[in-house]
Amino acid sequence: MKTITALHAATAALLLFAASCSTAPQGNSPYEKEIAAKISSMTLTQKAGQLVQINIDKICDPQTLELMPGAMDVVFGKYKVGSILNTMGENCPTQAWMTEIVKQIQDKSLQECDGIPCIYGLDMIHGATYLVEGTFFPQEINLGATFNPEHAANLGKVLAYETRSMQVPWVFSPVMDLGRNPVWPRQWESWGEDALVQSVMAKEETIAMQGSDKENIGAINVAACLKHYMGYGVPVSGKDRTPALIPDYELRERYFRPFEACIKAGALSVMVNSASINGIPTHANRKLLTGWLKEELAWDGMIVTDWADIDNLYERDHVAADRKEAIAMGINAGIDMIMDPYKPEIVEDICQLVEEGKISEERLNDAVARVLRLKYRLGLFKNPTVDAQWPLTGSEGFARMAYNAAVESEVLLKNEGILPLKPGARILVCGPNSDNMRCLNGGWSYTWQGTNNPKYVEKFNTIYEALKLRFPAAQLVPGVSYIQDWAGQSEDASGIHAAVAAARGVDVIVACIGENSYCETPGNIDDLNISANQKKLVEALAATGKPIVLVLNEGRPRVINTLEPLAGAVVDIMLPGNYGADALAALLAGEENFSGKLPLTYPKHVNSLHTYDFKVSEKREMIGGAYNYDAKMDVQWSFGDGLSYTSFEYSNLVSDKSEFRSGDVLNFSIDVKNTGERAGKESVLLYSSDLVASMMPDVKRLRAFTKIELQPGEVRTVSFSIPADDLAFAGDDGKWHLEPGEFRIAAGGESVIINCVR
Ligand code: BGC
Repeated sequence: MKTITALHAATAALLLFAASCSTAPQGNSPYEKEIAAKISSMTLTQKAGQLVQINIDKICDPQTLELMPGAMDVVFGKYKVGSILNTMGENCPTQAWMTEIVKQIQDKSLQECDGIPCIYGLDMIHGATYLVEGTFFPQEINLGATFNPEHAANLGKVLAYETRSMQVPWVFSPVMDLGRNPVWPRQWESWGEDALVQSVMAKEETIAMQGSDKENIGAINVAACLKHYMGYGVPVSGKDRTPALIPDYELRERYFRPFEACIKAGALSVMVNSASINGIPTHANRKLLTGWLKEELAWDGMIVTDWADIDNLYERDHVAADRKEAIAMGINAGIDMIMDPYKPEIVEDICQLVEEGKISEERLNDAVARVLRLKYRLGLFKNPTVDAQWPLTGSEGFARMAYNAAVESEVLLKNEGILPLKPGARILVCGPNSDNMRCLNGGWSYTWQGTNNPKYVEKFNTIYEALKLRFPAAQLVPGVSYIQDWAGQSEDASGIHAAVAAARGVDVIVACIGENSYCETPGNIDDLNISANQKKLVEALAATGKPIVLVLNEGRPRVINTLEPLAGAVVDIMLPGNYGADALAALLAGEENFSGKLPLTYPKHVNSLHTYDFKVSEKREMIGGAYNYDAKMDVQWSFGDGLSYTSFEYSNLVSDKSEFRSGDVLNFSIDVKNTGERAGKESVLLYSSDLVASMMPDVKRLRAFTKIELQPGEVRTVSFSIPADDLAFAGDDGKWHLEPGEFRIAAGGESVIINCVR
């Protein structure tokens, strides 16, 4: 047996500390007596088994897609494993197959694990993305661009219904990593760069998924798993699963907020950031897992690791010497369930660690209680599966919701009068994204990398197909194509000449460029510039003199500063899903109006990556003297940019208070008028600026937003109420500060000054 003195000093201290102290608040659910009774009758192996989650392909034959009795005996019979995750590699499940599989798993679990049901979890990211019949909404980054929480609620409702229709009660969603480093390959999985947008949208989705009573999750609802806690979206290198450096005040100010909002709204589980913050792998960070999440928020939910991240503590991060040390480190930090996809024998290690006193009985029982609590709340003890018909799965009603979300999510960034396209226009549709469903959906679509089987997407329209329905003279010559292997990131540029030749005979070119689908580490890049081939294609097309509509279909903002001047119009459609091309064609034809706004800052230069809420000192004019303290903030488009076929005018911004104190509620109103000739929707964004503060203030912060629809000539007074304490900032001392002094409140070019007094 390894003695404590043989461990690293820091680890030893952590283990001693964690093994000796109480780990979390007691549960508050109506099931506490049942949970305690259950735990008191469980063997050590049964308890350890509840803490483990295994991948489906450990128990399912990849050829026959049938469960393997021998493997089931090991996973459930011997190791009493509590949870299963995932789909079978490149096979997207059908409702019928998954229903059968989950039923068999539940029967086995009840039989082998003393009546305890298994909990199955799936990555359902922009709808029921692992269901052949599922409805795919635009990805979260697009929903961020709608600035309309109704779409987040619709996503949550549909995703839950369709996921439950396949007997799966738990989803690893919503994703709420603030995408503040545009190089990071998971930017598109979350709602953009702003903490408020992230909080509001993720909270709506969580409530819609779980229903209104977290103690009794309904038969058409699922438990949410907020991920990835936290700060995962800002790796210094931009590469997935690499270290982040985030001071505590920044963690409080931005990254913790969306988690706090969703947990207060009832979120039942959390998945941990796979990387590290300030040198500490998040899976070993007791302060953040047990301290901030469980103790501060008095949260009795469950924390699950990300994929094999206990192994990462010793294999990748070298903070543990071996696997057992890593397991103890994670569980003592606050992990309740270990996603250890292929090694059910981890159960033996957990048992030994408890016997050796390196994980206390108390911590073990607390973790088991959290797993069982989730299962009780989901009603799995009473109904391990739900017997019902599911008529709405893949229905037209759900499809309409996804289409509406796509319409509101596509962002018009430039229009020199060439949009809407004229009826009957002869269009050349080109670029690698022009005839490709994989690009429209992105990752987490039928398969992990979005390498969807063409037969799943046959019934949906690519951009070319959707345009052709409206413009019969449209022709397709891609010019550049992606080579559709698993990674899908290399290109064939042999068609550029053909595209240029075709361009000569058309009225307008719709050039669809961007990225192919990817997910996580396979999406890492070394250069944020759009690919050289795509650049060459657009430059060659521009030389024909024909007007170009540039359509950007991408998971992160690829730099296009040399192409933007060549285009008469630019539309960023990001990853709009299966109905995204229909939405785009309707928008380009003028049947629908644009109303999306960027939920992120679109960079102009690869070495000048910013967010809208930068520090005042980051942008300075030249000053005289020996040195020029000149700091430029030169971006392609700003957070909140987005045009429409109509125009809006803002006036009369009024605050009900000129002076305020902590505890007050601040009420603002502003008139918005549709000054154009057609109806349109407008997201009204209200910002605050703390003019002087003891810590350098952000230049501005979004404090509230809403979306309205106005007919031509219509004026609406929009009102916002915000707690004055929302204007506070997180200090270096970990506390919130609302300091006396002036604040500027602004919306749509209007502003008003209000004064904070003691
Ligand atoms: C991802 C998670 C995902 C998990 C299970 C990991 O690689 O980081 O977001 O939930 O796999 O599929």
